[in-house]
Formats: sequence, C-alpha cells, structure tokens
Amino acid sequence: MSEPATAYLLERAWVDGAVHDDVLVGIEDGRFTRVEVGGPAEGVERLPGLTLPGLANDHSHAFHRALRGRTQRDKGTFWTWREQMYAVAEGLDPDRYVTLARAVFREMLAAGYTSVSEFHYLHHQPDGTPYAAPRAMGNALVLAAEEAGIRLTLLDTCYLSSGFGAPPEGVQVRYSDGTAQRWAERAGAGPAAIHSVRAVPRDQLQVFRGRDPLHVHLSEQPRENDECLAAYGVTPTRLLHDEGLLGPGTTVVHATHLTDDDVELLGATRTNVCVTPTTERDLADGIGPARRLHEAGCRVTIGSDSHAVVDPFEELRALEMDERLATRERGHWTAAELLDVGTRGRAIAVGAPADLVTIDTRSPRTAGTGGDENTAVFAATSADVVRVVCDGGVVFSKGDEDGIGRELDAAIAGLWS
Ligand SMILES: [Zn+2]
Repeated sequence: MSEPATAYLLERAWVDGAVHDDVLVGIEDGRFTRVEVGGPAEGVERLPGLTLPGLANDHSHAFHRALRGRTQRDKGTFWTWREQMYAVAEGLDPDRYVTLARAVFREMLAAGYTSVSEFHYLHHQPDGTPYAAPRAMGNALVLAAEEAGIRLTLLDTCYLSSGFGAPPEGVQVRYSDGTAQRWAERAGAGPAAIHSVRAVPRDQLQVFRGRDPLHVHLSEQPRENDECLAAYGVTPTRLLHDEGLLGPGTTVVHATHLTDDDVELLGATRTNVCVTPTTERDLADGIGPARRLHEAGCRVTIGSDSHAVVDPFEELRALEMDERLATRERGHWTAAELLDVGTRGRAIAVGAPADLVTIDTRSPRTAGTGGDENTAVFAATSADVVRVVCDGGVVFSKGDEDGIGRELDAAIAGLWS
C-alpha cells in the first residue's frame, strides 16, 4: 500500500555537504522524490530549525539501557560491569524484551537516530534451552522496532565461549548455540555478528566468510589482545584478516587498542569501524585511533552501545574532543566530516530513504551558534531534537518525551524488582 505524498519546507537543511536555507522536500513511499533549495512552498508545512539526514546508531544492545545510572555507582571495571549486565539479562523473556526494546528504540528516535544495528546475542531461555520459536528473542526486537518506527538491522550474534577456550558460564548459556554451524542453522541467512574473537573459536570462524553485513567487537580491552596473542600468536585484527573476514561488508566495533599493523589492515581492506565514545568513556576502555582509521581508509560510524548515553551529537563531539585530550591538539575532525560519520554517509537526496532530524537552533544550548553544521556537532544535544521523520513518517515530535520516560521507567523497574 502506498502512502500519500507529503512535503516539507525546511528552514535550514544539510544538503550536498552544506547548510542551505528554504529546502523543499517531497516524500512518497518513504523516499525523497524532490529536494529543491529555495523551491516553491505554498501550502507546505514549514519545519523551523536545522534539519539533518537521519543519524545511524551502528551498535546497540537494547537491554543494556536497564543498567544506566546503576553500574556507574561504584568503582569497577569492564569485567564487573559485565557481571551486572548479565544479572539484567537473566530477567528478560520475549514479552519483557518487546516492552523494554520498544521504549529504548523510542528513546533513540527522540535523540535523532532513525536506524539501529542491534547486536543481539540473548537468544535462549535462562537455562540455555532454545525457545519453541528459536528466534523468539530476535523477533521481539523486530516487533519492538516496528512499533517504535525505527529502521532495524538485527545482527544475529554468535557467542560460544566466555573466553579463549572457556565454555559459557552462568547466563552466557542463553547466548550460545553450541557451535557456529548450529548458530547458522538457527540464525538463517540475514545480517550476522561474531561476538568477539574470544567468544568464537578460530576453527569455527570460516562459517562467517561472505556474510554481509558482519559485525564483530574488536580489541575493546587490552586483555582480549593479550589472550588472543597467547592463544593464536596474532592480534584479533590479524586473526580476522587471516580468516578472510575483513572488508567493506564488515564492521568492527570499538577498535580501541590497535597496533599500527592493525590500523593498516583495517584501512587496506576498507573495513568499517564503529566507535562508541560514550560507552568507551563509561567503561574506562580507552580512546581508539578513530581519526587514523578514517585516514587509513575505513568508514567510521558511531553507536550508543551500552546506552550509558543515547545522544548522537554527544558521540560525534566526543570523537573530536577525545582526540584532543589524547593528542593535546585541536581540530582533527571538521563538523562536516562528523556529520558524515553520524549519518553513515546518508543524505537528504532524491531516492534516499526519507529520514529527517530537525534540531532547534534557538534553544539555550544552540542559540547564537550560527545554525549550521557546527551547531549540530559542537552545540546541540539530543534534547534539541524537535521532529524526527523515518521512512517518511513522523516518529517523534517534541512533547513525546514524557511518554517515553514513563515507558522506560515501567520496563526497567520490572527488571530490577
Ligand atoms: Zn557492544
């Protein structure tokens, strides 16, 4: 069924790599049919503010949202955080997962993300037995995304071992299909992920060759590198390369602790790199070489990952700010480059999916900052988002926040009681 054509006059918009005034966009069947700077605009709804293409959340674990404000309370490490994350994972079943993920996806839309790559590994019942419908938990995420109105790429994730050569422990039995072959039988042919090189043994990695898209956590922790070197004599990046798993269809997530050789390999193979600065900050992971990876030839994207923060503007700003702290130099990324990172190269252009994110350029944060791409990247926060359109439909309007907050509250309270 086709949807009625709609049109907006955008007060200011990011089109063709620059900000333009009075951009008329026409939308039909979820795609832009018309994008005209200074086009005629009688009888067309005017959207004040600065409008961007939809922002892409390239790495998410929806249920981690339940940990915000809780795991930060005490000292700890990535590994103690992981214990708390597992405790929450234990309480989820398909129904509760729909409720939680729908609220989380709505929070993402409110922040300006119109698409999400969900790195999904919570497959089975608490004792490890598959559900009667073996993809029940993944289907819960699909339903939640449909109901929220966000575009979902469900990455069915293979997780077989808790560490190099170690079997799954505790709640990890919910993640494991036993072997990569059995994972493939359950997951089918769609988008895939390898949890990490510690979670899938080397002799089973060939199952993932040719998968596109394929995502994998990479070198988030020095410990993963040390253990990989001890087990296989190579870095995790080199291991993936040797197994034929790097390339433009692959996205490595984090890529924080890399050697020069790793950076070169990822760049030469045109592998995508998803960085998650607010999560890496929260977990004290370190600052990865995002700019060097970009210069080496990788497409860099962002993700909200653990959802300690859901704010694409903060992630983008962090790319530049973290680099400043690490190098004690300013000006590594331009705002235009960061918008390209945030949108994963998507544009407001004829034929593209009709996603629009409008930010208020007159808020206490953004007023007086020029109303251009620098406003978006160096001044705005997710609180400045006033309207979000995904596939041509309005999925968030300022004022919806109260309802989203109540949904999150209800969904998360149930998991901690
Ligand atoms: Zn992750």
